[in-house]
Parts: sequence; C-alpha cells; structure tokens
Amino acid sequence: MQINVSQQLKASIGSRRSYEVSEVINVAGGNSMVQGKVGLTRTDRGILVKGTLRTEVEVTCSRCLSLFSCPLALNIEDEYFPITDVVSGASLPLPEEPGCFTIDERHILDLTEAIRQYVLLAMPMKPLCREDCAGLCPSCGHNLNQGPCNCLPRGTESHSSELSQLTLVNGVLVSEGKE
Ligand SMILES: [Zn+2]
Ligand SMILES: [Zn+2]
Repeated sequence: MQINVSQQLKASIGSRRSYEVSEVINVAGGNSMVQGKVGLTRTDRGILVKGTLRTEVEVTCSRCLSLFSCPLALNIEDEYFPITDVVSGASLPLPEEPGCFTIDERHILDLTEAIRQYVLLAMPMKPLCREDCAGLCPSCGHNLNQGPCNCLPRGTESHSSELSQLTLVNGVLVSEGKE
C-alpha cells in the first residue's frame, strides 16, 4: 500500500487528504484483503496517518485446532517522517524514536509494514472459531463441533454396559419363552 505524498509534503501544515485502501497484503503468513479509509494530515514534521482498516486472517482455533477466518479491525495512527526534503532534495534528520516510519526519497509513504504490525497486535492470543466451540474429544480426537463421537461420556461407562447386558438377557428370555 504505497501513497505518493510529494504534493502533500508541499502543502501547508494541517492539510488533509483521504485515501481508500483496498489491497491484498501478505500478513501473518497468508494473503489478506485489507480495506478501509485512511486520512493523511500534514504535520510540522511529516504526515500523520489515521484511520480504521478491516481485514481477515486465517488462524487456528485453540480448542478444536481447525483453521478459520478471523475478522480484525485495525485502528491505525502513525506519523511518517520524510528522509528527504521535498523541495531541496536534502537529507533530513530523523527523530530519535526507534522504529519510526519513514517516507522514502521518492516521497512514497508505504503503509504495508504498519499494517503488518497492527495485524500482529490485533490477533487474539487464544483464537476461538466460535464462543462455544466444543473442542476435541480427549479420547479419540474427534471434532465435537461436528457432532458427538462414539466414545462414552466419562463416569457413565459402567452404567451403560450394565444396561446393554440386561437388554441382551431380556432378549434371550423373550425368545426362549416364545418357542
Ligand atoms: Zn474451535
Ligand atoms: Zn471420542
């Protein structure tokens, strides 16, 4: 997501422009469509980028281990600093803030790296495919969101086998009685 800001760098402090963002960006190990609107404001030192972007990333559910698409809202707010003076072409000193974003010598402001960082911050620590994800059966590993498995619920196992024995005995008795 690259924006040429040479015109805006020449504009007076406080001048604003808005841009529609709609681009596929490689984030968190996959390609994601990023969409939204950002406002660019000329500051005394550079350009302030502000806006809300939406995207979806593929994540693994922490309970059932299935892949699902997780929607994210990214509230972007960063100041970008030009490394070259737009009028004279002279190099400009950068602020001493570590990891600050820059506008390159061709006056291109690139949002890609910021978007990647915001995605990493917005990703849930323990993603859930849905609030009430049933998870996996601890015995056979079956995904319980797709229905119950054949394992018997714990604690009722002996009770159930007694029941089936009784039925069998009854069945034998009935057939004996008939003949
Ligand atoms: Zn799940
Ligand atoms: Zn099971």
